[in-house]
Amino acid sequence: MTKQDLISALRESVPGRSPLVGFAAADDPLFRENKRVVSPAHALPEDLLPGARTVVAFFIPLPRAVVRSNVPGKAASREWALAYIETNALIRDAALRLKRVLEAEGHAAAVTPATHNFDPETLVSDWSHRHAAFIAGLGRFGLNNMLITDSGCCGRLGSLVTSLELPPDPRPGREACLFRHDGSCQRCAARCVGDALSAERFDRKRCYAVCLHNEERHRELGKADVCGKCLAGVPCSFVDPVRAASRET
Ligand code: SF4
Ligand code: SF4
Repeated sequence: MTKQDLISALRESVPGRSPLVGFAAADDPLFRENKRVVSPAHALPEDLLPGARTVVAFFIPLPRAVVRSNVPGKAASREWALAYIETNALIRDAALRLKRVLEAEGHAAAVTPATHNFDPETLVSDWSHRHAAFIAGLGRFGLNNMLITDSGCCGRLGSLVTSLELPPDPRPGREACLFRHDGSCQRCAARCVGDALSAERFDRKRCYAVCLHNEERHRELGKADVCGKCLAGVPCSFVDPVRAASRET
């Protein structure tokens, strides 16, 4: 089984969404670093699947109309909240599809939920899809704490662990966030509606308070504890702006 087999299976499970896929070695030392940079309780690939050899990470872009709907106003748009709920199911189904494809070829695989696998006190998850995707070379972190991929940061991430050994992808050797690249942007911080994000700090609890407010506002949809104002209407919403700028020059 090749990388392309898995990429094709993922594309078939999310038709029309042009997902991005990255691969990391399960013994990449950065996974152990997650215990320091994310949480001491952060799992290793081996914890999720004994004998793990590869972590497969994927990014599913949100439809542009959904992102644009979340630009105006202080509250998360209904479309944004609904997309969050729907993509949780989409990510779960996509990961389970990859798991079945791997298992059909005799390889073990383990998946974790798209979200809500975090500690209710610290709000830190024990398996970060964002950090798995970073290690798998899908992008670099922006000031808004999101992974900026070649298709921007407005999308959802999933990952799974498998016993199949595949060659890891290289990580980008440069920043994707304009603030981290040359200090020329803080648009996400300016758009923050919860006084939670600035160049100096990110206040996770303030941010989550805004998300809970939106959950209440859209409670008929399910658990949509989201905001996303710092993702929508910014230079990195749909592209890697550093790469885009380098193409223009
Ligand atoms: S909006 Fe600007 S500063 Fe914020 S993450 Fe995107 S590129 Fe970086
Ligand atoms: S998600 Fe909302 S509250 Fe949280 S940092 Fe972004 S804009 Fe601010």
